Amino acid sequence: MDLYEYQARDLFEAHGVPVLPGIVAHTPEEAKAAAEEIGGGIVVVKAQVKVGGRGKAGGVKLAKSPDEAYEHAQAILGMDIKGHTVHRLLIAAGAEIAEEYYFSILLDRANRDYLAMCSKEGGVEIEQLAVESPEKLARVSIDPNDGIDAAKAAEIAEQAGFDAEEIPALAEVFQQLWTSFQKEDATLVEVNPLVKTGEGKIIALDGKVSTDDNADFRQPGHAELVDEQAEDPLEAKAKANDLNYVKLDGQVGIIGNGAGLVMSTLDVVAYAGEDHGGVKPANFLDIGGGASAEVMANGLDVILGDDQVESVFVNVFGGITSCDQVATGIVKALEILGDAATKPLVVRLDGNNVEEGRRILAEAAHPLVTTADTMDAGADKAAELANK
Ligand code: GDP
Ligand code: MN
Repeated sequence: MDLYEYQARDLFEAHGVPVLPGIVAHTPEEAKAAAEEIGGGIVVVKAQVKVGGRGKAGGVKLAKSPDEAYEHAQAILGMDIKGHTVHRLLIAAGAEIAEEYYFSILLDRANRDYLAMCSKEGGVEIEQLAVESPEKLARVSIDPNDGIDAAKAAEIAEQAGFDAEEIPALAEVFQQLWTSFQKEDATLVEVNPLVKTGEGKIIALDGKVSTDDNADFRQPGHAELVDEQAEDPLEAKAKANDLNYVKLDGQVGIIGNGAGLVMSTLDVVAYAGEDHGGVKPANFLDIGGGASAEVMANGLDVILGDDQVESVFVNVFGGITSCDQVATGIVKALEILGDAATKPLVVRLDGNNVEEGRRILAEAAHPLVTTADTMDAGADKAAELANK
């Protein structure tokens, strides 16, 4: 899960990373009150959207007084930043910036460890720096067993080209950021800019944190960070039922078992759709190995809750779960759903015990169900039905 900047700020603060006071505001009035509470001096009005480059887009503005904070808030709330509407602001104490640095820690899947990156040239877009002046971006791999201790932190700062007297203060913050990364089961912690103030203090001025959903079971606090307002209601429902579902923009609902099969089903349906008015897959839904009636019913329920869906393609390859179990699951799911099942279903079964599976479907002879022998034929039929 990607966090908002204010959530990252709060996590940093909890782990000892130096940050500036900040208050969330939803209206210009709240922004003004927050600026007063912070002390009436310079504040920064910052759009809270889960996308970078807010500053360039006009979503980060300095305000010299609470009244100015009110005006900036009025301008920024409702603004569209790269497709994200601003509903929330962070009103942060203004920093007197002497230098802007860059620091991040991320999961390096290819190398099966973590990677720390650091540059004396922060504030700018780091992707651009990495391409244009890669020598200015230090990259230090982090052994997951050792993490970032004092020596590793100093090594990172040294590689980034910092002078010896600057290293201790930076190294301390790097270690605190490592603690945040590790304790929160993050896959990314990025601070851009990490600033040095006029007084020589190091402060995390902007924060980007992504947490690993697979660790949610041991991070009970993370549930509170979910932004239910921004979450797609169908995806929320699927998540509540432990379904691996992603909503897409098409008309053909897809159910399959195994991520690989579902992905290729999306491709085949998109291809078949070209001959049927350009219909497209409506979702990704992997029901996994145990395709029980209940899981099938939950999956169908989510898919049929999508108003754009016109047909559903169930594409299952029987393995550990045999086709007769899947067929029984589909028949029972349609019973459970009753009148809630309104759209035609195309079912393609293959693999373990396929004959029995097909027999069960034929015997049930549900008026909404059509069977197909191959994936291509099933995709074509589902696309045709969606285009009617
Ligand atoms: P981003 O554009 O989404 O990365 O938003 P940032 O929070 O990184 O802010 C963008 C830029 O605004 C920073 O690189 C700073 O130059 C500037 N900025 C942010 N906060 C302050 C502040 O407290 N004081 C000053 N002077 N500048 C700030
Ligand atoms: Mn930034």
